[in-house]
Parts: sequence; C-alpha cells; structure tokens
Amino acid sequence: RAKDAGGGEYFEYEPSLHAMAEEKRQLEFSLRGALEKQELLLHYQPVVDAYSETIVSFEALVRWNSREHGFISPGKFIPLAEDTRLIVPIGTWIMQEACREAAANWPEDVKVNINVSPEQLLEPDFVTVVVRALSHSGLDPKRLEIEVTESIFVRDADIARKALEQCMALGCSIALDDFGTGYSSLGYLRKLSFSTIKVDRSFVQGAAQNSRESLAIIRAVVAMAESLEMTTTAEGVENEEEAEMIRKLGCDKIQGFHFGRPMPPADVIKIFTRKAADEQRKIA
Ligand code: C2E
Ligand code: MG
Ligand code: MG
Ligand code: MG
Repeated sequence: RAKDAGGGEYFEYEPSLHAMAEEKRQLEFSLRGALEKQELLLHYQPVVDAYSETIVSFEALVRWNSREHGFISPGKFIPLAEDTRLIVPIGTWIMQEACREAAANWPEDVKVNINVSPEQLLEPDFVTVVVRALSHSGLDPKRLEIEVTESIFVRDADIARKALEQCMALGCSIALDDFGTGYSSLGYLRKLSFSTIKVDRSFVQGAAQNSRESLAIIRAVVAMAESLEMTTTAEGVENEEEAEMIRKLGCDKIQGFHFGRPMPPADVIKIFTRKAADEQRKIA
C-alpha cells in the first residue's frame, strides 16, 4: 500500500521498526545465554539510617556485561527478561547469589534487599526458591527484605499476596519499591504489612526543587507509614542538601549516590573491613 502511495513514509518507517525488533531479538538471544556465560553479576548499594548514617542494608542490583553488546542497563534488560520470562531463572540466581554473599561476607546486623518481579512472584515455586536460598546460604531470614512494586497488585493479586505472606512467615520483610509511581493506590498499603515504603527518587528530586506537591506527598507518606507502623526509605538522594531535607521530612532511611553508588561485592567487604579497623582503633 505505502509503496504505491509514493511511500517515503513506508521506507523510512519500516526499516527502523525492523531494526528495533531485530535488536530486541538479538538481545533476547544473548540474554538466554547470559547466566551460563556468567555475564550477570550483582552490585550492592548501601541503605543508611537517616540520622546515624550507619549502614542498615545493601540492595542487590543486577548488572549485565554482555560479550556481544557490552554493558546493558537493568532498565533495558529487566523488562526484556520479564517479557520473555527469563527473569524466572535469572531471579532465582539473584536470590541465591545475594543471600550467599550477605551470609558469607557481611556483618550480621546488615540486611540484604532483593528486587523481585511479578513474574517471579507468580511462579508456584517462588517460596521454595526463597527457602532454598536461605537454607543453602544459612542467611537468617530476618536479614532478607524482598522489594516489590505496586505492579504486583495489578493482576493475580491474591497469588502474589499469599506468596509474600509465606515469606513473611519465614521471617523475611517486604518493601514496597518506587512508591508513588505507576498504579499508586493507597489501598495497596492495606493489603500487606510492608515493613518499608521506598519513596521514589522522582519525589526526592521534586522536593529538592521545592515542588510543593512532592513535599506534600513525602510528608503524607511518612505520616501514613508511621501510623501503619511501616518505615520509609528515600531513594536517590544525591547530595547533603537532599539528605538534610529528607531528614527534616522524617524519612527513616536513605539510599542514594550521596551515601554510595551500587558497587561490586569486594568494595562492600572493604567498607566493613575499614569499619572494623576503625572500631579497633577506638577500643585500643
Ligand atoms: P530500583 O529497585 O528502584 O533500584 C534503584 C535504582 O536507582 C538503581 O538503578 C540505582 O542504581 C538507582 N539509584 C540509586 N541511587 C541513585 C541516585 O542517587 N541517583 C540516581 N540517578 N539513581 C540512583 P539500576 O541499578 O539501574 O536499576 C534500575 C531498576 O532495575 C531497579 O530499580 C529495579 O527495578 C530493576 N532491577 C535492578 N536489579 C534488579 C534485580 O536484581 N531484579 C529485578 N527484578 N529487578 C532489578
Ligand atoms: Mg529496588
Ligand atoms: Mg526503587
Ligand atoms: Mg526507583
């Protein structure tokens, strides 16, 4: 049709669509082999107490260093992994690896936060995956916090909720990630006893730019969390001014480049080693 109609449009449009589909196909092909080729790795970003600034947890963030495509951000490959269900085996590996790392190399009072996609949560054996990761690593379930987004409540909400309740029965805690983005409904907060609400970086940025709406929303979330006996974590705090503002707003915990970027596991260990040495010096 477009060809006959003198279709410049056809010729400009069709190849790019084709190229996009082709790129996605190639990326998917590579992602299928990524686990086996050991191209996936975990980085960890500190979460600190807003007031004492001590590290309370590290969030595991997956990285893909592809031989064919170079470094691909999770913002790009996680959605692809979700579409293709590759997130299920990848997510199982992340659960095992992050639990192992935390149990083997971190102090016992430091938790690990692990992101879980809806596709993983809806798998009938999700809880088994968690149980196995905990028992193989020996990690105390109290040290594992599972991060989910509100999107889990959109479809098959009951299945997702039951799986998370079983994890809570094991002793794990659940954080509601990226709160305020997407399908936000306060009703979701009634459906599960989250231990933490993570306030999305967009509100932190908004508040830093003096947006009245962002400030009001953070205040409301903090007040709500308090009355629901949940804690709040502000995401994406990049400088001291933002940290100070977040403290004034009453958030309990802070995560962001200001306190540390996602880092390889060896750098996490270095932080603990340095801390232990400092303590030694204080005692001596
Ligand atoms: P998220 O779970 O909300 O993770 C926080 C993201 O914010 C991370 O991006 C982190 O690097 C970034 N970030 C932290 N502090 C700052 C800051 O101060 N400034 C800015 N500009 N960014 C900051 P990352 O690692 O690219 O991950 C993006 C998203 O990909 C995650 O968002 C999460 O939804 C998903 N993701 C990452 N790792 C995993 C995983 O292991 N499993 C699953 N299912 N999803 C994951
Ligand atoms: Mg997260
Ligand atoms: Mg988040
Ligand atoms: Mg976020």
